[in-house]
Amino acid sequence: MAGEMMQPRVSMPAATPASALPQGALFDTAPVALLCLDEPGNVLLANRAVARLLGRAPAYMQHRPLITMVHQADRRRVVSHLMRLAQGDDVEIDIVLEMPHGTPLPVTLLSTPIIDASGSLRFSQHALLDMSRRREVERTLQQTAARLDHLAHHDALTGLANRYLMEDRLAQAVARCRRNGWLGALVFVDIDRFKLYNDTYGHATGDAILVEAATRLSLAVREQDTVCRYSGDEFLVILENITSQADVDTVLGKLREEFRRPVYGVADRALELSASFGATLFDRNTRDAGLLIKQADLAMYEVKQNGQDAVGYYSPQINAGAERRRLLEADLAQALDGSQFELQFQPQVDAASGRVKGCEALLRWHHPSRGLIEPSEFIPIAEHRGHIAQITGWALVTACQAARRWLEQGLAFERIAVNVSARDLSSPYLTTQVAQALQHAGLPADMLEIEVTETSVMHYPEVAARTLRALAATGVKLALDDFGTGYSSLKCLKDHAFDRIKIDRSFVDALGRHAGNDAIVTAMVSMASSLGVEVVAEGVEHPGQRVRLLDAGVPLMQGKLFTPPLDFAGAIRFMVAAAR
Ligand code: C2E
Ligand code: MG
Ligand code: MG
Repeated sequence: MAGEMMQPRVSMPAATPASALPQGALFDTAPVALLCLDEPGNVLLANRAVARLLGRAPAYMQHRPLITMVHQADRRRVVSHLMRLAQGDDVEIDIVLEMPHGTPLPVTLLSTPIIDASGSLRFSQHALLDMSRRREVERTLQQTAARLDHLAHHDALTGLANRYLMEDRLAQAVARCRRNGWLGALVFVDIDRFKLYNDTYGHATGDAILVEAATRLSLAVREQDTVCRYSGDEFLVILENITSQADVDTVLGKLREEFRRPVYGVADRALELSASFGATLFDRNTRDAGLLIKQADLAMYEVKQNGQDAVGYYSPQINAGAERRRLLEADLAQALDGSQFELQFQPQVDAASGRVKGCEALLRWHHPSRGLIEPSEFIPIAEHRGHIAQITGWALVTACQAARRWLEQGLAFERIAVNVSARDLSSPYLTTQVAQALQHAGLPADMLEIEVTETSVMHYPEVAARTLRALAATGVKLALDDFGTGYSSLKCLKDHAFDRIKIDRSFVDALGRHAGNDAIVTAMVSMASSLGVEVVAEGVEHPGQRVRLLDAGVPLMQGKLFTPPLDFAGAIRFMVAAAR
């Protein structure tokens, strides 16, 4: 029978006659699983490696159709495989065999037909390659690749999309809008006071707040929307497939409410969270996804500037404001030598006697081309750009020198007040700067007053407390500015050694409009006097306010009723006149 067969396609070294080899033993002990099937596909021969691989006794396999050992799902494919083999082709197939108890075994079946002289298939021989290890390795590789891919596109702390994935998704969203004319929105979210929490309660609390924020944002939007951690405490939300701005309003309202629920279980108290939201819309005409991020960021920044915990939309006006800020930022660096700065002085008057009891120094920036710039505009920029310490240093030195000259001229004033900002309070240099300015001018420490606002104390409460103690120890006076406008003015007053409070202009303005307003001022005065703290009223503009303040027990006043801030010479003239 063998003589009728064509030579199998296995070549042998010519020098070794095939008959010399123990062919049966070779087959049986080959390190590869080898099978021989008859034409219908029943097992004729299976070597030991097959028995080992399949966990079957050789007797079990004998005369059994191979197909019965193939997993149900692969049987059709094996039938086709055998049919192709019958046409004389070498074929290869990946299938799953079934071991005892149905255990699957993935194998590659390499098959070669043995065709007789008439061209019919007589037998076929097969090698079974165990693929289970390779599959395992492939699966592990796939999982690792997927994990790496996830890490590259997601934030490790919150699990949200990171900025790279977000930029990709945003570009896709913009492209979809262009195609189908939908509306989309990008929302920039920044947690209010995050730095304060992080610094006060530690990084673990900071992390917990970020995770909580991520969860709240994700739960508040639809599944198709993307929430991403952009950086630090900044998140971005992409809203797609919306019909009008009203939809965005609804989502923003929801997000804001979500944020305002107190956070429990971090730090040792319930934390009051809030966030500032800036949104920008995109439609079929939008091209530049990167521009959208800038616009949403600007809108958010505007919300922060106006007191945070609110939502706002981008508009071209915001853009103009940002452009001006950017230009001022660049020009401020040139002004730092003080040549463009001026201090003006606003006397604080004892309204009963008309005498000057002190002067507040107020900074002005004479910009070479833009004219006078208000401190409320450039101080935040200076803080943001890290220039504030230099500016405060200049103001302290200049104010102390002015006071020195007034003293030399025999003018009667008790002290000069200088404003410092949040950054100054968190800086270890402030106390040194104060001491140097005093020493340079030869001014007694108790003639200098440092004005701080409650908000700036609350920015970095622990460091601020240290700075205030150090300042008090040098003998300078401390005033709590804009009193009543913060969240916990009374607590701030109790916690620190202030000599004065300055009742904010808004309370003075409200006097006489409603009986309740007068009562608030009276309550502030009695509270201050119980703590042994002096009171100054700011922004007094009308004679009626002066009368009401005197009635409420506030003799010290500052405001346009007496004089607006004056230049150096003007302040001297005012003090001379007041002393007469
Ligand atoms: P502030 O310390 O509360 O200063 C009082 C503000 O009220 C001043 O505004 C003053 O010009 C204004 N004012 C005075 N009298 C009246 C009045 O009768 N009616 C009204 N409506 N306003 C009056 P200014 O000079 O624009 O300063 C604004 C804020 O800028 C200051 O508020 C202070 O927080 C900050 N600032 C001023 N100079 C400096 C400085 O040298 N360093 C720092 N860090 N901040 C400064
Ligand atoms: Mg002030
Ligand atoms: Mg004030």
